[in-house]
Amino acid sequence: MKNKINWNFDNSYSRLSNVFKENIEPVSVKNPELVILNEDLAKSLELNFSNVSRNELSSLFTGNSLPNGSNSIAQAYAGHQFGYFTMLGDGRAVLIGEHITSKNKRYDIQFKGSGRTAFSRNGDGRAALGPMLREYIISEAINYLNIPSTRSLAVAKTGENIIREKLLKGAVLTRVASSHIRVGTFQYIAAREKIEDLNILLSYVIDRHYPQINNSKNKALQLLKVVMNKQINLVIDWMRVGFIHGVMNTDNMSISGETIDYGPCAFMDTYDPKTVFSSIDKTGRYAYCNQPAIIKWNLSRFAECLIPIIHKDQNQAVLMATEIINSFDKIYEEKWLNMMRNKLGLIEKDEKDKSLILDLLKWMHINKADYTNTFCNLMDENNLKNKIYENSDFLDWKKKWKLRLLKKNKSLNDCVKLMNSVNPLVIPRNHKVEEAIDAAEQNNLEPTYQLLEILKKPYSFQKNTSIYQMPIISNKNYQTFCGT
Ligand code: AMP
Ligand code: MG
Repeated sequence: MKNKINWNFDNSYSRLSNVFKENIEPVSVKNPELVILNEDLAKSLELNFSNVSRNELSSLFTGNSLPNGSNSIAQAYAGHQFGYFTMLGDGRAVLIGEHITSKNKRYDIQFKGSGRTAFSRNGDGRAALGPMLREYIISEAINYLNIPSTRSLAVAKTGENIIREKLLKGAVLTRVASSHIRVGTFQYIAAREKIEDLNILLSYVIDRHYPQINNSKNKALQLLKVVMNKQINLVIDWMRVGFIHGVMNTDNMSISGETIDYGPCAFMDTYDPKTVFSSIDKTGRYAYCNQPAIIKWNLSRFAECLIPIIHKDQNQAVLMATEIINSFDKIYEEKWLNMMRNKLGLIEKDEKDKSLILDLLKWMHINKADYTNTFCNLMDENNLKNKIYENSDFLDWKKKWKLRLLKKNKSLNDCVKLMNSVNPLVIPRNHKVEEAIDAAEQNNLEPTYQLLEILKKPYSFQKNTSIYQMPIISNKNYQTFCGT
């Protein structure tokens, strides 16, 4: 199958010692059946599935037949889950290999839901069709919103039922990532207190993701800085589009800065900073407004792992790491302000920008306005008509905003262009995602295809865009689940 598909594996992680992973193959399944294949992603990976039969694809994407050159492993990692430390690892995933494109880009190809591993603890190693389709749809949406993310290459049914509160159809998701190395990977290795292994991981990560650091005097410290900046950029992007990850445990935070692990995530509709969708997030630890603080908390856990390799004097190492972590708030604040300026088309800076931005957010909160649609209204008031935008406080705010736009002598056209580039017209609305998954579970993929098509161009008005723009009020108590 290798030549037909053009797989080009070079499995560097599997060459690390067994401290880092377990060598294991996916557990074969009874009756594999491909559900969806991401042709666009395949193309960008230079993979060609056009000469492969449906049966072969089904077998491939459930792990029943592994491609030549793969060398499958389950990765070891740890994590702070809702604040509590646990030794974990891929309990239901196997990395089948690293595919290299002709431009020398390296991608992990991983099956999720592929059976038990040494890290499964009490789990069955399996995943259900609904949550895997959900990950497929939302990760693709995030990617097309121009936000770094793992991607989804395929979902295939296993033909086996899995036992949850009720019987569900089993499925395997093929996830593509620039790597699956997490903050939790460092935590796992650091917890074992073998400095040689920590150094191996440090070198591996730098060579793979941040080779520019190789020249720096203190590589561990520099890595902390680089990862912090990547994560700040990521969370700013989430805040920009109203994305709530839902389970920002340290094992779900990628060293590469990609969004990873789409479990109970969802997009906020009505603007409320405290929005939480996840059924298990009882205290709101991972609420929309807490995301930056949690990123900082997770980065502090990352910094702790690096202490032994930052400086041989522990006190000195702590001081150096603390200085970096302490710079988080200022960097975040500035980047957040700029992001919000862009959303409002505010070119250049004005001292009153922050209060103008906060006034709008306050208005949205009090008036229960839709986050995405409010910016759409500002970009084109004729398109999204809604009584809420006739509110006099909103109209007053708009007058101030328009004065600010003109103050810097930029053309309104330029302002709107800027807004168009950062304010999506469509997000994966919760009810649309549910509708697509429900239909797919009944073997009707049409709503999923249509949704994915719209989500591919979230910043452009398309024929069916308006159908996907409306939130529904009955979403008020919308809940999401981990799908584990
Ligand atoms: P997650 O909440 O998806 O980040 O998963 C947390 C941990 O639980 C990871 O180590 C997963 O591999 C593991 N896990 C989740 N679901 C299962 C399952 N059904 N069987 C075995 N391990 C699982
Ligand atoms: Mg996870």
